[in-house]
Amino acid sequence: MDPEILLDVHDVRRAFAKQGGGELLVLDDVQLKLRDDEIVGLLGRSGSGKSTLLRIISGLSRPSAGTVTYLGHPVDGPARGIAMVFQSFALFPWLTVLENVQLGLEALGLPAKQIRERALSAIDLIGLDGYESAYPRELSGGMRQRVGFARALVVHPNILLMDEPFSALDVLTAENLRTDFLDLWQEGQLPIKGVILVTHNIEEAVLMCDRVLLFSTNPGRVVTEIKIDLPHPRDRQDPAFVSIVDRIYTEMTARHTEQIMQRRERFQGMGISTALPRVSANLIAGLVEAVAAQPYDGKADLPDLTADLQLEIDELFPVAETLQMLRLAELEGGDIKLTHMGKRFAEEDINVRKEIFSRALMSYVPLAAHIRRVLDERANHTAPKSRFLDELEDHMSPEAAEETLRAVIGWGRYGELFSYDDDTAMFSLENPQ
Ligand code: ADP
Ligand code: MG
Repeated sequence: MDPEILLDVHDVRRAFAKQGGGELLVLDDVQLKLRDDEIVGLLGRSGSGKSTLLRIISGLSRPSAGTVTYLGHPVDGPARGIAMVFQSFALFPWLTVLENVQLGLEALGLPAKQIRERALSAIDLIGLDGYESAYPRELSGGMRQRVGFARALVVHPNILLMDEPFSALDVLTAENLRTDFLDLWQEGQLPIKGVILVTHNIEEAVLMCDRVLLFSTNPGRVVTEIKIDLPHPRDRQDPAFVSIVDRIYTEMTARHTEQIMQRRERFQGMGISTALPRVSANLIAGLVEAVAAQPYDGKADLPDLTADLQLEIDELFPVAETLQMLRLAELEGGDIKLTHMGKRFAEEDINVRKEIFSRALMSYVPLAAHIRRVLDERANHTAPKSRFLDELEDHMSPEAAEETLRAVIGWGRYGELFSYDDDTAMFSLENPQ
């Protein structure tokens, strides 16, 4: 075996039993190798199975099939030498900083003096000196996450797993902690050999990683690997940096569009059962306006747009996809471009907008058209929500059915295609034909 390989994830698959029977395939055919001295990024959208994979790697959870090998040995329980930093800091509120950090060491059965010394040195290393006796509630989010790092590092793990460790922090605090972490890593001060960083933030991945693995959704799978050969410290303004960020956006939108098309084909003939993202009509209108406005004038680079609107890709993608589904925009190669209809939508007043929207719903959202048809056909022009939920649940989980119906309710209201009363859970028509 290659002595450089710290960790080898081979053919890992993970399925969960679904409530109403059947199984949810979350990870399939996942391959990943972590080598000595590497930071590998796992980049994927929320729900793509990234946290599940980290739990499997750390031995907290078992794969349904496949193997995880750590330094040549199979992982079949919580692995010593692999530590994790979580998004939510997971600190004990009744313990001080020092006590929280020491906790990581208690399982190792070291003498009390050594536990204290190691904890103090981890605290010092990560910039928490002076806060040893503070309680978590006295600390800012950034300082709390430093405690999270200290608690993981204090065991001197070989591998550090990080599950979106910066995503709960404000922008400046997150950048500060990233840079501090990278400096320590570059200087060789961290007692670790390799890092796996899970994130849905593309720039963060490009800033920190040597390689980035792009994860698909449903099921999660590694679809592409992108090497990042830029020297440290990296500069977000550097054209080479920007170009890698662009490339990843392009890959992610391309993959995603491909997946949507495949899903459409699969559902052809029973189009009402396509799961829909819960995106409000306001966000849809807002994005059309943003793309139509200067400096974009109808066509925007998604990375620029995400930055400008201060959104995460997880927030932007579903809206962009909805625009694409409604044919108000096209997604291509990391760009979003308004269609003729999208441009008109941007120019017109609210009444024309509603008309455009309602026509798009009738043409491109089979579920919305279906609800409208049922209401048109019924003598009293009403129908209970449960009727449509039942239909959807034949094809998707109850949660997805609820989300899908909620999405369509919002859109239908905006387009005045139908109304919906939350108290009675009834659909109705305001202007039956
Ligand atoms: P990510 O971290 O990429 O956002 P997760 O790994 O948390 O994704 O979840 C991936 C999918 O697996 C989600 O659909 C989630 O609901 C499902 N999932 C995760 N853990 C469990 C579990 N213990 N039981 C059932 N489903 C689960
Ligand atoms: Mg997660």
